[in-house]
Amino acid sequence: MTYLTLKDINKIYPNGYHAVHNFNLEIDKGEFIVFVGPSGCGKSTTLRMIAGLEDISNGEFLINGKRANELGPREREVAMVFQSYALYPQMTVFDNIAFGLTLQGVDEEVIEEKVKNTARILGLTDYLDRLPRALSGGQRQRVAIGRAIIRKVGVFLMDEPLSNLDAKQRVTMRSEIAQIHRETGATTIYVTHDQTEAMTLADRIVVMKDGYVQQIGTPYQLYHDPVNVFVAGFIGEPPMNFIRGTVKDGKMAFGANTLDVTAPLGSKAKQYEGREIVFGFRPEAIELGKAANAYYIQAEVELTEMLGDNTNVYITTGEDKAILKVDPHDTPEIDSAIVFSIPYSDVYLFDGETENVIERAAQKK
Ligand code: ADP
Repeated sequence: MTYLTLKDINKIYPNGYHAVHNFNLEIDKGEFIVFVGPSGCGKSTTLRMIAGLEDISNGEFLINGKRANELGPREREVAMVFQSYALYPQMTVFDNIAFGLTLQGVDEEVIEEKVKNTARILGLTDYLDRLPRALSGGQRQRVAIGRAIIRKVGVFLMDEPLSNLDAKQRVTMRSEIAQIHRETGATTIYVTHDQTEAMTLADRIVVMKDGYVQQIGTPYQLYHDPVNVFVAGFIGEPPMNFIRGTVKDGKMAFGANTLDVTAPLGSKAKQYEGREIVFGFRPEAIELGKAANAYYIQAEVELTEMLGDNTNVYITTGEDKAILKVDPHDTPEIDSAIVFSIPYSDVYLFDGETENVIERAAQKK
């Protein structure tokens, strides 16, 4: 059942800056939605419009099918977790978590029970008497989350909640947020610039760029069927490799390679004769040596990076560079010449001008 609806939402700031363009999204109850994109693409602005902290310039925001544009933050039944935590420094963890309920005049016994239950979910039971300054960054963020989830609101809004934590704490907190979502089942909208956070947490991801939604889909859909070069390059780590070239006689040449683009494109290749296309493949989609039903590419090894479970191999082929992910046992020598294969079904071709995906061989299967 659709719970929240964003219909052609736009934000034009008083200084005239058009930060969000025609944002459309329907969110079901219980969904975990992540807005992802580079800094400045309009994620926070959109979240703040949902929270009621920022006016909607154009378009409609509906809660359970009813227009909510004019409702204040409290009436929308949302709770927001900020990256700065926004805890009260002179209050204990208990009082910080209890604050919203205390304000509402909820019975003390009820508050105590709820705070203890929330602290249990968040692993804060032993810290209830402490002041925020005696906590680690991760623990402070848990208190901030506790303060939000203790109120039984409809939606949790989280704006880069992990950005003040170190890399290790981020990974731990990330799995805790996923766990909290499983336990509470609360509808959540989460903003981040980190594609790994988006991929690991989201039921559905909204990829944004320059105020425009690029694509909305499950992590699987965005990884396997990106609609354009931007999404293909943003989702996945290391990112997808791109090689630009012009189609000549149905072929694209770079370095010592001449690739027959009619293999994945079929008759569509004719439309691209004399035009630029972008050839994309993921670092993990390759095989060293020659394989059947695949392109072979000749390249030089520039650098290798041992990561334990795999090795990133940085290659050059003519003017172009790419990264290949290989089994550590197969790590090639630096400066050696190699051949690798990309199965036709793992090649993405994009229009050089619009950067929209043309076709992927796998889609034809
Ligand atoms: P993100 O969360 O994706 O980093 P924001 O939503 O914070 O991006 O900002 C989107 C764009 O709107 C940015 O270019 C930012 O500079 C601009 N912006 C944000 N707040 C204001 C404001 N109050 N007035 C004018 N422009 C703003």
